[in-house]
Amino acid sequence: MDTGFLELPELKLRYYRFGVGNSPHVLVTAALHGDEVTGTYAAYKLVEYLKLRENIEGTVTVIPVVNVPGFISRIRFNPVDYVDMNRVFPDGTGSLTTRRIVSFVWELASSSDYVIDLHCAGLNSYQYILALYREFPKVKELTDRMPWDTVVESNGTRGQLFVEASYRGIPAVIIETGAEKFIRVV
Ligand SMILES: [Zn+2]
Repeated sequence: MDTGFLELPELKLRYYRFGVGNSPHVLVTAALHGDEVTGTYAAYKLVEYLKLRENIEGTVTVIPVVNVPGFISRIRFNPVDYVDMNRVFPDGTGSLTTRRIVSFVWELASSSDYVIDLHCAGLNSYQYILALYREFPKVKELTDRMPWDTVVESNGTRGQLFVEASYRGIPAVIIETGAEKFIRVV
């Protein structure tokens, strides 16, 4: 395992990487929206799981918290500039912090074969996959391999990480987790 940071003067963004150099390369991100903590919980569970695996057929990079300032404040946006980080890919906008984080994540996404972005739809949500599966056959192939029945066609709002990756030929989805289970666990 390999861990690293995007180090900015004001924050550190940590990532974990497993099976370095193997193919395919999967990027898993969470907390692009700082208050969607179930995704972060799931991402750390994935890190724990991968730490116990000796041979990983592929490279998996996990960023449990993308929007570090929003996560600390438990708000959706980056509190520095109130930018929604999941609307400004690939170029970013607003503060230097947002632009640096977005470009760092986009660089990783661009060199990945798949992108899975974890979000949290709220207390009463049932877990589902959000994807552009009608437009992109490779996205459909990915959702067909995922173990959940509910796949929702996205409206394709530009600037979202999974939408921009899909348009560049990288199969990408959002997994919207519910929150209820997480609350029961803790
Ligand atoms: Zn979200």
